[in-house]
Parts: sequence; structure tokens; C-alpha cells
Amino acid sequence: MEAKEKSDDLSDKIRDLELRIKRRNNSSDAGASLSTNTAQSPPNSAGMKSNIRSVSGNTKPSRPTMNFSGDSRGRRTPDSIPRATNITVPDSAEIEAKYMEIMKLTGVLDIAGEKVKCEQTDLEDLGELGHGTCGQVFTMRHKSSGQIMAVKQMRRSGNREENKRIIMDLETVLKSHSCPYIVHCFGVFITESEVWICMELMATCLDKLLKKTKSCIPENIIGKITVAVLNALDYLKDEHGVIHRDIKPSNILLDSDGSVKLCDFGISGRLVDSKANTRTGTACAGYMAPERIQPPNPSKPDYDIRADVWSLGVTLVELATAEFPYKSCKTDFEVLSCVLTSPSPSLPTDQDFSIDFIDFVDQCLTKDHKDRPKYKKLLEHPFVRHYHTAEVDMSAWYKSTLATC
Ligand code: ATP
Ligand code: MG
Repeated sequence: MEAKEKSDDLSDKIRDLELRIKRRNNSSDAGASLSTNTAQSPPNSAGMKSNIRSVSGNTKPSRPTMNFSGDSRGRRTPDSIPRATNITVPDSAEIEAKYMEIMKLTGVLDIAGEKVKCEQTDLEDLGELGHGTCGQVFTMRHKSSGQIMAVKQMRRSGNREENKRIIMDLETVLKSHSCPYIVHCFGVFITESEVWICMELMATCLDKLLKKTKSCIPENIIGKITVAVLNALDYLKDEHGVIHRDIKPSNILLDSDGSVKLCDFGISGRLVDSKANTRTGTACAGYMAPERIQPPNPSKPDYDIRADVWSLGVTLVELATAEFPYKSCKTDFEVLSCVLTSPSPSLPTDQDFSIDFIDFVDQCLTKDHKDRPKYKKLLEHPFVRHYHTAEVDMSAWYKSTLATC
């Protein structure tokens, strides 16, 4: 079957599926076995709750536009960059099954071990934590239980096929409970126009911390961060076949107890991809691996987990030096050219970094992705092995760092 026919066939099936969900939701109470604490609002045309409200109680604020052109991290990707992905699209039967599964989970939050069916209006907005290329993150409180959470709110594009993939990615988000290095997800809300991901609230991210302290993070702290991120990435790959695709300081979260967790895998990347055709797609160019910027075979763009290894390397240099490696670049184009044509960033050799740390970063920033090591090899690197077991009081460091800035 031709690709176009396949895609039409898929669209028809998805439309049919949505109609079936709508009928089912109209005729039965899908949440009957769950503790329901609000009145049900009528489903919209996709059979989902249409009760989208402003978190401030007013009209939903418009999403920030992607006006980051002045950002030295090159957040806007020029139109010329090929959107390399190696997403495998499951066949339509698999999509249907997963779609049905995930739609059952919308509006069901797992709070203190209990599944609670709720509406978006059951969450109270306690203020914005920040915003990025795909949406805004708010601190919110689940009113009846008092559970505080971080809720990432993202607009969905109108593209049906992309949306289906986004929905399937949420499956990964919801299933990643067994990894201590991935931020916990309470549940999701999916409406026709939005996706809300309700996560555990962490104290900060490494991007905010760097901006606040304006100082380098000590090597032993970076060692622990590296162990956490590598294990999270390895888990995502092994357990869920997922490439993170957006490793950078703002997606590495810290808590006051010293824990380090990764967030924003899969889903954000998918939303970015889904915007590719509207030419507003964004990605943090400064963390992007050379093979993503300039795929060796542009007619068949492809990259693997080693693109995340590169992004980790750039992140580690930034944490260790408190400077973004491409900070001297004035435009996104310069950043991208620099990634492609300049020698890879590396740790300065005159600043007391251990040989193992310097070598680990060099390995991550191997320019040719075919020579760049994958996770299993990196997990065996002496730098990682050392910090896997080393005693480091992350919590004390975090508290003293915050106290001094
Ligand atoms: P991008 O959209 O390109 O990934 P970003 O990571 O800066 O950029 P968001 O993912 O929207 O943007 O996050 C915005 C901010 O919200 C981040 O800087 C981070 O500090 C904060 N944040 C996100 N998730 C949480 C969380 N679970 N707990 C605490 N803060 C969070
Ligand atoms: Mg993020």
C-alpha cells in the first residue's frame, strides 16, 4: 500500500475510533469504579472532557510565543534543519489499542495510592514555575486531597497523526514509575486542544540553579547527576524504547532531599516534531548533536540514543564551567554552524577536573556519532562507576548552595 493510502486509512480508523469512544462515553460511566469527586461535564466531540479553563480562573492565557531568538542556547531551530527522527509508528491496530488504553487514563490521578477521577477544575493554580517551547508549567494543588504537583500544560497541534503519537508517548510517561531517576507522574489530562502532565513537584531544575548561583557545580555533585541521568536514559531505552531527545539543564530536576530526576522525555519532542510542518518548531540547538543538525543521509534522516549522549556532554560542560559552551554565538545559525564545524566542547584541563571526568565528557562529545559510546559502555566508565557508589551529600550541598545566593 502507498504511504498516502496508509495514512488515509489510519486517519479513517482514528476518526472511527474517536466516534466509538464518544459513543461509549455517552452511554456509560467509564470512571464508575473510581472515586469520583466532581460532577461529570459533557464530553466533547472526541469523547474527552471539554472543561478547559484558565488556571487563573479567567480565559486561558495565550501560550508564550517562541521568541527566544536572543537566547544564546539557540532555542529556535532554523527552517533549514532537517527534522530527523527515527520514530517507529506502530501499525493502526496497535495505535487503536494504545489510544483506547491511554484515553481511559485521562483525568485519573494516582494520589497516595488511590486512583482519583478528576476534572482540570479540581486543580488550583498556585503560580507559574516556568515556561518553555511547548507550554507552561504551574504549581497546582489538587483541592480535595491537598496534593501539590507541577503541571505541564501544552497545546496540541491539529495534526491527527502527530496527536496520536503524542498520546501514545504519554503511556511511557505514565509507566515510568519504576525508575527512581525519572520524575513521578500522577496522571494526565488530554483534551482536544491540550495535554496536561501532572508531575511531582521538584525544588528546581539545573538551568534555574545555574542562573541563580552563577557558579560552577562541583565535580562530585556532577558525578551524581551524571549517574542519575545516564540511568534514566538507559531505563527509557531498555524498558520503553524511548529516546529522550531534549537533554539539557532545564530538564534535569533537583529536590531538596538531594534527588536528581529527569523530566520531559518523548512527549515534548513529539510536540516539537508536530510543529515542524508549521515552521515554528523549536529545539535547543545548542544541545543538539551534529548528526541531528546535518544528518549524513538527509533523504532518510535517522539518529539514535547517541544524540542524547552528545546533549549530556554539552550539559556537563555547562554545569562544570557555569558557561554555555556556545555562548559566544550570536544567532542560532552561528550556534548550529559552530556545533558542526568547531571542535567539540571539552572541559578545561587547568581547573582541577579529574582525568576521568575530562575523558567522560570527551567520550560523550565524540563528533562522529558512529564512534560515540552508547549507555552500557558509558555506565562502565570509571567516572560513572566511581560516582555510582561514592558518598556525596547532595542535600547538604543543595541547601548550602541556596543559602549563599
Ligand atoms: P523546553 O520546553 O524546551 O523543554 P524548558 O524545559 O525550559 O524548555 P518547560 O519544560 O516548560 O521548559 O519547564 C519550564 C520550567 O518549569 C523549567 O525551567 C523547570 O524549572 C520547571 N519545571 C518543570 N517541571 C517541573 C517539576 N516537575 N518540578 C519543578 N519544576 C519544574
Ligand atoms: Mg522542560
